[in-house]
Amino acid sequence: MLGGWGENMTTGLVWEERLMWHDTGMYFGPAVFSPWIEPVQPPENTDGKRRIKNLLDRSGLTKKLHDLSCPQASKEDIRRVHTAKYFAEVEKLSENGGGNLGLMGTTHVGNKGIDIALLAAGGSISATKAVLDGKVDNAYALIRPPGHHARPNEAMGFCIFANAAIAGLYALDIGGLDRIAFVDWDVHHGNGTQEIFWEDPRALTISLHQENCFPPASGATDEIGAAKGIGTNLNIPLPPGCGESAYLAAFDHVVLPALETFKPQLIIVPCGFDAGFHDPLGRMMLTSHSFRLLTARIKAASQSICDGKIVMTHEGGYSPHSVPFHCLAVLEELSGIPTDVLDPYLQPSQKIDDKFLPHQADAVSRAEAVLKKYIL
Ligand code: ZN
Repeated sequence: MLGGWGENMTTGLVWEERLMWHDTGMYFGPAVFSPWIEPVQPPENTDGKRRIKNLLDRSGLTKKLHDLSCPQASKEDIRRVHTAKYFAEVEKLSENGGGNLGLMGTTHVGNKGIDIALLAAGGSISATKAVLDGKVDNAYALIRPPGHHARPNEAMGFCIFANAAIAGLYALDIGGLDRIAFVDWDVHHGNGTQEIFWEDPRALTISLHQENCFPPASGATDEIGAAKGIGTNLNIPLPPGCGESAYLAAFDHVVLPALETFKPQLIIVPCGFDAGFHDPLGRMMLTSHSFRLLTARIKAASQSICDGKIVMTHEGGYSPHSVPFHCLAVLEELSGIPTDVLDPYLQPSQKIDDKFLPHQADAVSRAEAVLKKYIL
């Protein structure tokens, strides 16, 4: 029995059909594409997300979760995070038929695409509002486009608006909270969230990610925040190849002690599944069982720190084969409601030989040293 079974929580799910209509085009960066190779669908596409919802429905879990609304975020909600100039840039591209934006041209805004980006941001606020209002204990926003790379003035890495940060500033500025924490386990650095709260002591921003992956030169342990925000940004860059034991060590030695010290009133998890063993955009080795264990740890910590208040916003995860099973495991654990689904990738023939290697332990120790020096 893992953490959640027998301890049912009311869990909200944000889902909206129009989120699946976010058009990512046929040209996946760079902005000037090659005339030499047939175009291919970008990794962030409808299929992977719809397959998650299909599995949630097929398992019977969707019916047992609270269906949360997904209204568009208002311009004021977006402007807590993004500049007026950037908002106008997205608006203009959206009105003019769409195109690619931002670093390496990796973020596509479709024709009228701002409407769907506003839905994704609004879905993250809806999940947060439901948790803060006590309508549900915790909530998962199954949204796209993702958000954690988006900067105040720039799209990046498939992200248009910074959904999780927008939800966080809603919780602080409108919801009246004093302290929130982010635990971002997407395999890529949560650079947008880091930048948005860089000088803000009200938010502890933690990111576990594959070191030197994406964005380039971003997410080192010495990035600890600035001004009044010094000591409220914690990066845990892990070497490629890390599996469950490395992530659990990072949680037990770094993430959980940081949460216990900071005592957030709400924990937001920018939840990517691209640290999964199948992922084409990451080189880590997590399974659905690993994501279940990480969720159980966050859930247990939240119950002792902030009455179980957790909001998860969907980020990356690009294996259409295994990501649905990862997300189902997270939602089973969040809600405490098991299903009959067996993950085919957990069968004995698929077993991953997970060893916690010395260079992986060194990476966890480096993050732990930063935690002890600047944060604890
Ligand atoms: Zn990612």
